[in-house]
Amino acid sequence: MRLVILGGGESGVGTAILGKKNGYDVFVSDSNKIKENYKQVLINNGINWEEEQHTESLILNADVVMKSPGIPDKALIIKKLVEKGISVISEIEFAAPFTSATIIGITGSNGKTTTTMLTYHLLKSAGLNVGLGGNIGKSFAWEVADKKYDSYVLELSSFQLDGIINFKPHIAIITNISPDHLDRYEYNYENYINAKFRITMNQSEDDYLIYDADDEAIKQWLQTHTVKAKLIPFSLTKTFTEGAYIKDNTMEIKIRGEEFTMDTDHIALEGKHNIKNAMAATSVAKLMQIRKATIRESLSNFQGVEHRLEKVSKIQNVQYINDSKATNVNATFFALDSMNSPTVWIVGGVDKGNDYNELMSLVREKVKAIICLGIDNKKIINIFGNVVDIMIEVNNMSEAVQMAQRLTEKGDTVLLSPACASFDLFESYEDRGNQFKAAVKNL
Ligand code: ADP
Repeated sequence: MRLVILGGGESGVGTAILGKKNGYDVFVSDSNKIKENYKQVLINNGINWEEEQHTESLILNADVVMKSPGIPDKALIIKKLVEKGISVISEIEFAAPFTSATIIGITGSNGKTTTTMLTYHLLKSAGLNVGLGGNIGKSFAWEVADKKYDSYVLELSSFQLDGIINFKPHIAIITNISPDHLDRYEYNYENYINAKFRITMNQSEDDYLIYDADDEAIKQWLQTHTVKAKLIPFSLTKTFTEGAYIKDNTMEIKIRGEEFTMDTDHIALEGKHNIKNAMAATSVAKLMQIRKATIRESLSNFQGVEHRLEKVSKIQNVQYINDSKATNVNATFFALDSMNSPTVWIVGGVDKGNDYNELMSLVREKVKAIICLGIDNKKIINIFGNVVDIMIEVNNMSEAVQMAQRLTEKGDTVLLSPACASFDLFESYEDRGNQFKAAVKNL
């Protein structure tokens, strides 16, 4: 069997290793340069590869093709493969049949990484032999090739779900859905929503789908489609006989006749969105029969993930918060919502079609000054120019942070939550967040 892998990154190289181990004739082709460390792995494993080209004679003879998530369906080579009727799948589809582990798959527009890390933390702290993968850290395929875990917590993007045929998680989570990546879905929101729901398409009556019951897109989809999996909703406003909800500041979870309660003040993560993430992760922990004391302890000591509402430091009684991962309006909405002191807000970058009006009432209520950190700030200035007293444009992060310091007084907060991608001024959201932290340290 010839396995051709398009893309020589983490998921491509992971799939190559798993394929090789299972007797496939493997070939890796990348239209860009392959990173040196990955090249070494391919060479050490005797796997054939090419870079900066796609040689059709070596690709169109594949029995199966694994496409890395970064490659769009409209790429020429993909069109040719599809025309020839060759099956093009994603890494999770390829890897899943090689493990009998219990799979927990987590998707959504925001909160995937946080919920995945928290779920992993809950299961790991309980002593389960559990792996972590997907969009985080090591690829799932690589883990399956190298390790023997009993269960996996996987962060799944819509791109990975686009390439599944039979893949099914035993427990699926959809954290929420809001418009994102529409350029890959013909600018049709419906297509993107359908892609997210592919996570449940192969689930059976013995499986579970945990979802945000406050989310409009999710609610509507569920009203118009049938799902075989058992539904476990979570909500900040409603209550359920089976599901997770909030009652008088207490998180309550009722699953399979059992009940778990915890005061939300004891959950280390802050913000309403994180209560939702905690409800989703705790529902998994209950389904996996983790002891209540262990769940409580894990929720009270999980400090969150870097670049997501990360408390950097307090200087002259001003709290600096790095939320660089907020690359869309919905994420920034929850960041502003969780602010409880006057806030200097650093915002801007590459806008993927943002509707800033959704933030209007929070900005009125909480923001004392806006610092625009992007190459083109027109839209932000037009929308909020009359709403906040101070609005300043800067060109780099150290200027932004120094300006923020000047505008604050004791008790205020400085929040970097850009609502935009970072590629105009930074290499990545990590680079942006790291520059923010370095600039704060230099104050
Ligand atoms: P993802 O992996 O889906 O991008 P992250 O956990 O990395 O999600 O969080 C991305 C951004 O969204 C961060 O700014 C974070 O604070 C915010 N966020 C986290 N959970 C949620 C949620 N449930 N709803 C909305 N925003 C969220």
